[in-house]
Amino acid sequence: MSHINPNFAKELERYGAKDFNLCFNCGNCTAICSLSTKDNSFPREMIRFSALGLEDDIKSSLKPWMCYYCGECSTDCPRQAHPGELMMSLRRWLTAKYDWTGLSGLLYKHLSAYIIGFLLVIVGLIVFAAKLDWNQEKIMHFGHLFEMFAIAGVFAIILLPNIFRMWLYTIVRPKVKATVKVYYKAFSELLVHMFTQKRFLECEKLQETQIKWFEHFILVIGYLSLLFTTVFLDWFGSENMFIIALGYVESAIIFVVTFLFILKRAKKTEALHKFSQPSDWFFVIWLFLMGITAFLVRLFIDIGILQNNFWLYLVHISVLVQWAIIIVPFGKWTHFLYRSFAMCFARILELNDMKK
Ligand code: SF4
Ligand code: SF4
Repeated sequence: MSHINPNFAKELERYGAKDFNLCFNCGNCTAICSLSTKDNSFPREMIRFSALGLEDDIKSSLKPWMCYYCGECSTDCPRQAHPGELMMSLRRWLTAKYDWTGLSGLLYKHLSAYIIGFLLVIVGLIVFAAKLDWNQEKIMHFGHLFEMFAIAGVFAIILLPNIFRMWLYTIVRPKVKATVKVYYKAFSELLVHMFTQKRFLECEKLQETQIKWFEHFILVIGYLSLLFTTVFLDWFGSENMFIIALGYVESAIIFVVTFLFILKRAKKTEALHKFSQPSDWFFVIWLFLMGITAFLVRLFIDIGILQNNFWLYLVHISVLVQWAIIIVPFGKWTHFLYRSFAMCFARILELNDMKK
């Protein structure tokens, strides 16, 4: 039997939900959503579940991940119940449920936890740099080692177990019996959605959607390739002209695109930018800071002024560590990963249903 949480609405408000109890169940939002289908209908169902406190049904649902937050449903809701924002809040809530450490929920609900986390990183780095006698070469060497091991560590210790929990909630506990062949077929969805987010293109308002999709696509490619260039091609240490130029282009893509995102959030003209949570701000601002500080560090190396301006590298590495151990495993970055897995799991359910 489904567990009912009478305080669920209050709980969701802490994840950013706004006024969804005003909903009078007209169904406009579901009718207008171009991603909602007969077999996979949302967001009205999720609003009903949330109002009734059907926590378990939401936890086992992949529907919150099917929404790409175009904002159409919020714009057309006659009750201003902000269904798009509710779907976003459910994604934040689910992220907290998947996370075995409990830190995601803590960070989403308490801005002070984010600030303490960021400050602890800065203090830790100062202590570490002082232990190395502020030796620039050694600090940069450890910075590069951190880049290499942070990715593997965060993935193995935090993200992989969380994906496993997501799979438990959405596939195993609902007793979905899928064969290895079904998993194999569905796996391609994971890669396709992770790298292209092609479902986003099915949203209404084609031209606007295509621009937004392209901005996201180029940001994902810029981010992943900069990661590769700095970690595996040692961008800051390289003397290869091609690698140096590549890093400049990738970091510029990141800070230009994220700057545009920051402007849009600040202007609040679109429904999806009306209610930014701290996690939304941290995501775009830290990505922007990472791109611009990486660009400037390499520029300072190339014009020979990094030694006298080593503070810049320290700022860059602080931002990078905060990003890698706070925002990536517990913040908005995880949405990119969970959404891709949700597409894969949804395909498993679909293939399983087709077999019946
Ligand atoms: S959220 Fe708004 S559009 Fe959707 S069912 Fe409720 S009142 Fe209607
Ligand atoms: S925000 Fe867009 S994709 Fe999400 S439920 Fe509303 S209409 Fe559908």
